[in-house]
Amino acid sequence: MTAQDTRPAPGTVGEALARAKARGLDRLDAQLLLAHHLDRPRSWLLAHDDAVLTPAQRDAFDTDVARRADGVPIAYLLGQREFHGLLLQVTPDVLDPRPDTETLVDWALELLDGELAALPAPQVLDLGTGSGAIALAVKQGAPRVRMRALDASAAALNVAQGNAQRLGMEVSFTQSDWWSALTSPRLHLALSNPPYIDGDDPHLAQLRHEPLQALTPGPDGLQAITHIVQGAPAHLEPGAWLLLEHGFDQGAAVRRTLEQQGFAAVTTRRDLAGHERCSGGRWPG
Ligand code: GLN
Repeated sequence: MTAQDTRPAPGTVGEALARAKARGLDRLDAQLLLAHHLDRPRSWLLAHDDAVLTPAQRDAFDTDVARRADGVPIAYLLGQREFHGLLLQVTPDVLDPRPDTETLVDWALELLDGELAALPAPQVLDLGTGSGAIALAVKQGAPRVRMRALDASAAALNVAQGNAQRLGMEVSFTQSDWWSALTSPRLHLALSNPPYIDGDDPHLAQLRHEPLQALTPGPDGLQAITHIVQGAPAHLEPGAWLLLEHGFDQGAAVRRTLEQQGFAAVTTRRDLAGHERCSGGRWPG
């Protein structure tokens, strides 16, 4: 007798989805993962409940189900995330782009289309670009901008650069700890989604699969934001805007920091959930 594979039969699409449900996965997450491993559109699954998986497909799917159940972002398992209409590649080297951050992009695009509309080639910077989400979405919405993006992490810059190439967008990337390596020319618009979670916030445990340095600046969640605001004037043209994402309970503190630094027209925008999410102001120069 030859050696037998003693594992249970690979099973069907319906059985695979039922196993994922039993592990506590959202139905949508389970469908996205299975579609990914079968290399089929999600719609195909719905009509092929009885299709049989290969052992390799079953094993790969079950492994990802266990990782998802452990809190790994679905974007890391799929290797991609849609952000502001762009399909971005994401890896565990970068923060998983959040829909909240689209608030910052929309505000930037409104300024480029409004107060900054007369500038033929506005100088724009994304500080701490991660996957490149903000830089690429703004470049996509306002192609005339000269977009620069920086990050302290070489691994993150690699991901962002790959996204720019794949999307055919011109963005210039620099490895820099906030403003430290930035050279002229001065900016008309500076954008950032910096780390802003307090280092002892229990919420961080749920985000343990994402890069810690993209989530928290240390004990004081406002540390990176304060650093960016204080360093901004040396890099801004008169009339330039600085827009920052922050925590739902940090709006008042960020507005105060901007005003103390001398920014004018300081305001806050809310995200889709109604939380104060981005604050910014104009540099009078
Ligand atoms: N908004 C993210 C969260 O709280 C954090 C992103 C960040 O620190 N910039 O999950």
